[in-house]
Amino acid sequence: MGKILLKSVLMQNVGEKPMRKDVLVDGNKFSKISDQVSPEMAGGAEVVDCKDFALLPAFYNGHTHAAMNLLRGYADDMELSKWLNEYIWPFEAKLTDKDIEIGSRLGILEMIKSGTVFFADMYWHREQTMKVVEEMGIRATIGVTIADNLMTEEGLNANFEFLKNHTGESERVKLSVMPHSVYAVGEKNLKRCIEMSEQENYPLHIHLSETASEVENCIAQYGCSPVELLERLGGLNRMVQAAHCVHFSDKDMEIFAKSGATAILNPCSNLKLSSGIPLIAKMMDAGVNIALGTDGASSNNNLDMHEEMKLAALLAKVQGGAEKLPASEAIMMATARVAELNGINAGLIAEGKLADGLLVRLDNERMVPCHDLISNWVYSADSRSIDSVICNGRFVMRGGHVDGEEDILKEAESCAARLAGR
Ligand SMILES: [Zn+2]
Repeated sequence: MGKILLKSVLMQNVGEKPMRKDVLVDGNKFSKISDQVSPEMAGGAEVVDCKDFALLPAFYNGHTHAAMNLLRGYADDMELSKWLNEYIWPFEAKLTDKDIEIGSRLGILEMIKSGTVFFADMYWHREQTMKVVEEMGIRATIGVTIADNLMTEEGLNANFEFLKNHTGESERVKLSVMPHSVYAVGEKNLKRCIEMSEQENYPLHIHLSETASEVENCIAQYGCSPVELLERLGGLNRMVQAAHCVHFSDKDMEIFAKSGATAILNPCSNLKLSSGIPLIAKMMDAGVNIALGTDGASSNNNLDMHEEMKLAALLAKVQGGAEKLPASEAIMMATARVAELNGINAGLIAEGKLADGLLVRLDNERMVPCHDLISNWVYSADSRSIDSVICNGRFVMRGGHVDGEEDILKEAESCAARLAGR
């Protein structure tokens, strides 16, 4: 698309009154944000009149399983271990490359339509998901998943070999090492993952302390909590992105905060699976780095980061008082913080940042009146107010429409019906 001049965009930095700004996107970056950018200065860029929109940071989903969108509504209203062992893992064992491609496309479509331009994904058949990310124009960190209980020795070795021989795939798609959890990966392979993360500079992404029984079993097996186990193995540091972190003791929080690791909280999934409520306020007080993700659509049951952001803010308030986790902080957990963790220079609407953003309708009924744009966005709005989504300087959704969305839905419906034997 080349240069775009997004003209007359209403911008607001937190705590300031709304201002109208012109925003020039040059290539894949915001190159100029000022009161007025002349079309001459923009060098023939496409001019979009944005007087009815606010330009807000897009969402970055810190933890999900995109292709699991095929399992949305397949196994609900049960706790995690029954859900995983009796329904999810047997269903997943049937998935082919093509199914993963179709499921990923459905997940990414849903993410784009709810304003998300990046996701950290832990799943199988990673090449299919990578292909669809490239095709649909967003960003991802794709996990090379390690799970002793679901993989052969040969498969495990192949994955470690793959990580050794790659340095990240493309401008928009990166890799990370993803041991599933301390209950699905034994000490030996956890160590290999930690070494791989250190040697090859990959983020290490893991489900951690999601349920009380995970912690109890870890104590029974190793004599310590999952957090302490990672620390003992030398694997708790800035490179760690730990999903869930629901059952942290005070000691866990202290160790975790000191290490510089990040907790990727997924409160919707934790509530639905009855795993517990992440101790957001306490974690913030302990100095734990926190970011947000949705988890997969079979436990959430959607990939809407807006819901996660609002729920996180509300939970923090009921735990720590109404001033805890203000809107300006909650939005960072769903945007810039996840981007930064994944090495993406984005998440803020600022000159020099990668041009990712959302054009949000100011005439949507949930955005009126506009006493405070960020407050409206975090506490009132939902994804219906998102008109357009920009990623890497290109529109991936425009006027509420994503190219090919009707076919994506049709194909996903028939694929899921076949897999479920309907
Ligand atoms: Zn997960």
